[in-house]
Parts: sequence; structure tokens; C-alpha cells
Amino acid sequence: MNSQQLSRRLATVADLICQYGATDIRLADIGSDHAYLPCHLALNQKIQAAVAGEVVKGPYQSAQAEVKSQGLDSIIQVRLGDGLAVIQADDAINVISICGMGGSLIRSILDAGQDKLSHGPLLVLQPNIGEATLRSWLSQHDFQIVHETIVEDSQRLYEIIVAQHQPGAPALMPRQAYLGPILSQIRGPLYKQKWAREEANLKAIQAQIQAAPQPDQAKLAEIAEKLGWIADSLSQCQEEE
Ligand code: SAM
Repeated sequence: MNSQQLSRRLATVADLICQYGATDIRLADIGSDHAYLPCHLALNQKIQAAVAGEVVKGPYQSAQAEVKSQGLDSIIQVRLGDGLAVIQADDAINVISICGMGGSLIRSILDAGQDKLSHGPLLVLQPNIGEATLRSWLSQHDFQIVHETIVEDSQRLYEIIVAQHQPGAPALMPRQAYLGPILSQIRGPLYKQKWAREEANLKAIQAQIQAAPQPDQAKLAEIAEKLGWIADSLSQCQEEE
């Protein structure tokens, strides 16, 4: 992967930024190891300006080097800092991307940076795991999910979530936060693959807990609820075949 040729995962994120972003996109890419995403968008004249934020010095220096070598210093500012703290008011950021991290970390970055979200930037998020906790946070903070997709890249499945500030939007039910409000409606082959895998994982965990001398009943109830949601959704996939 490089700035010219993104991975399928980041290429999909780039497409969604262009599809859902404003006419003049001003992007903050948080956790911008190498800054490939903002560089790619700038090289293709898709963004007006960008901030590439990184909390770790090594990746920050890689991002700086990439921006410089691509001659994009006038468009992309690389900043060292934690989460949304790198965003300044006069950046006028209208799209924030946070990709390639766990959903809990993305959630905590958004939670800690709520002052940077009050004007309602578009969020394009790609959690590696922990999608449900991220969706719950979005729902509790007036962000409505407007697009979801699953991408297969290097034999892994990744969910990408696009959310817009929408006060008054209906809150997500736990089942929707778990399966995805849009993904569970559109389903499709990658959705089926993802949940068939997750069903097998959960059944293995369930069997381990049941074999313990004193099974954790609360955990078993939680797993049973999730397995019910998955079975119900997978049966809808089968009806469509
Ligand atoms: N966004 C790129 C992608 O999707 O390919 C890089 C993903 S990399 C696995 C995650 C990056 O997020 C790391 O470089 C890490 O240092 C950075 N990171 C983690 N927590 C962060 C935070 N609180 N603020 C800014 N960057 C963070």
C-alpha cells in the first residue's frame, strides 16, 4: 500500500469520504500512520485541506515524511497529538476519519473530543473489532448511521460506518448496534460470511463456559441473546438465496 495505491479497505473509506463529504472537503484523519489516506485524496484533488493526526512519534514522523515526499505540505498538516485534540477551530474540518483501530478506542477518541464534534462533522469510521460499542456511542450522541459496508481485504472482513450529526434520530436497539442497522437490512454474502464465523466463535465460547464447574450464567445469557440475533438474521439470508 502507498499513497497512490490504497488497500481495498482504505480505498473504500476514501470513496465514502468523497460520496458523503461536503463539496469542499476538509478532512481530519486521526491515527494517520503514513498519512496514506489524506495523501491519496489530495493527490486526486478530492480534498481542499487535511490534518493528519498521530499520537505516536514514529508513525507521526512517517506521516510527515510521506506528506513531504508527495509535495503536499500546503494541503496536509501533520500534527502530533491525542485524538481530536489536533483539530483547531480554524481548520474548519467537516469530515473526520478514524480507521484501523478497535471500536472501543475510536469510541474513547470521539468521547474525549466531543468539543470538536459540536458543529457536526461527517464521521467515517473503520473499527477492526468492537463495532457494537461504537454504534451505541454514536446513537447516544446524536449521530445517525447513514451508510455501512463490509470490505474483504487480505482475508479479513472490515466494517466501515458513515455517520452524520442528526439530533432527534431514533436510538439504536441493542440488536441493531450489534448487527448494524443498515448491514442487517441489506445483508449480502460478506455479511453472511462474517456472522457465520461469529456464530461459530460464540458457540465455541458457549461450550467452554458450559463445561466450567460453575458456569457464568450472566455471560451465557449474553451469548444466548447474541446467538439468537445471529440465527434470526442468517435465516433471513437463507430465505433470500
Ligand atoms: N489509519 C491507518 C489505517 O487505517 O491504515 C493506520 C491504522 S494504525 C493500525 C492505528 C494508528 O492509530 C497508529 O498509528 C496509532 O499510533 C494511532 N493512534 C492510536 N490511538 C490514537 C490516538 N488516541 N490519537 C491519535 N492516533 C492514535
